[in-house]
Amino acid sequence: MLVDEILNKAREEKRTVLTEIEAKQILGEAGINCTDTRLATTKDEAVAISEKIGYPVVLKISSADITHKSDAGGVMVNLKAKAAVEKAYDDIMASCTAKYPSANIEGVAVQGMAKAGTEVIIGMTKDPSFGPVLMFGLGGIFVEVLKDVAFRIVPLEKNDASEMINEIKGNKLLEGYRGQDPADIPFLEGMLLKLSALVDKTEGIAEIDMNPVFAHKQGAVVVDARIILEAA
Ligand code: ADP
Ligand code: MG
Repeated sequence: MLVDEILNKAREEKRTVLTEIEAKQILGEAGINCTDTRLATTKDEAVAISEKIGYPVVLKISSADITHKSDAGGVMVNLKAKAAVEKAYDDIMASCTAKYPSANIEGVAVQGMAKAGTEVIIGMTKDPSFGPVLMFGLGGIFVEVLKDVAFRIVPLEKNDASEMINEIKGNKLLEGYRGQDPADIPFLEGMLLKLSALVDKTEGIAEIDMNPVFAHKQGAVVVDARIILEAA
């Protein structure tokens, strides 16, 4: 199975960090909607993939050694044509190799530009006494500054998912705000339940971070994902 293959490969390589591409493959297998994200190992390949996916696209550094990709100059969004993709490829490589000279860089991840939406984050961490716990919150300052997040122990019941979304203080923002569309709450609940099922049946995952997820009027999509494995 794909999930086991990815986990085994990482363990063989003595890695505990999965790349965004690997993380999205695992989440995708669990039925969680992620942007279609593919690896390019050359500039020409990045252009070919961009043309297949359709502009605008996003390019990101793909390296298990670089987990905060934007900080490393490793993310370029809204690329609208071939020339922009070529320049982004060079700029990302230059910036990341300068900042992380010893990082093992496998290439650049190419994905479609997701339609803007309400940004939420969904995560999993392991609590020493409760075991795996899911987290839900709004993106940006809501999590970082206000710590406005809700937690539930895995496995989640259907009620848990709706309660989590209801209990965050910024919950009103999901109903639509200043002309922004409301978020598809049932779809977000589905994401939480699918993540719970994945975590419940998969051993060896220490941490999952889907940040951000763009919630739309219909549906939602994970645009960045990180998975950390337990040390062997
Ligand atoms: P980091 O490793 O720094 O967290 P991200 O993959 O989250 O990198 O990218 C940084 C930001 O770029 C995101 O918070 C989001 O706003 C934007 N972004 C990333 N991927 C996409 C995408 N596919 N479509 C639209 N915006 C994106
Ligand atoms: Mg991110």
